[in-house]
Amino acid sequence: MKTRQVGDKESLFHFWGRYLQKVATGLVSLLSGMGVTIRYFVSPDKIITQQYPENRENLQMMARFRGHLAMIHDENNQHRCTGCGICEKACPNGTISVLTAKDLAGRKVLGRYIYRLSQCTLCNLCIESCPFGAISMGRDFELATYDRQQLTFILNKTQGGK
Ligand code: SF4
Ligand code: SF4
Repeated sequence: MKTRQVGDKESLFHFWGRYLQKVATGLVSLLSGMGVTIRYFVSPDKIITQQYPENRENLQMMARFRGHLAMIHDENNQHRCTGCGICEKACPNGTISVLTAKDLAGRKVLGRYIYRLSQCTLCNLCIESCPFGAISMGRDFELATYDRQQLTFILNKTQGGK
């Protein structure tokens, strides 16, 4: 009988111990959450949550955002693509077609760089494979359209791409 009373006391002690531990954990969690709220309340300039779509006019997407494939052009509208086709081979789903042509000296040059956004998974493999750093991910957003044709782009602007 005495052994049973000792066992009851131990389990009661255990119960209150766990209960108080949970209360303490809850309090710490509540206070840390309130700390974040108060911090942003007194310094609203540090808020990183975007008020989208209200801010769509001046919304700047983050550097890591992957909108769609784009060809980098300099101020003279020139790009670094040689038409080597490595990115085309690296793309796992045939999103890119690199069509080449010959210049007046008979050298192979890029003719048209065709990119189909409708197929692209934005995996970045093409960019990583390019040895010349000629392509990157654009930061445009709201790219949805009802017409699939509008999701095919010619990326080299010097060939009249959009
Ligand atoms: S991001 Fe991926 S899927 Fe899109 S074109 Fe590049 S390799 Fe292909
Ligand atoms: S984008 Fe790069 S990898 Fe692709 S064809 Fe041009 S130079 Fe080659």
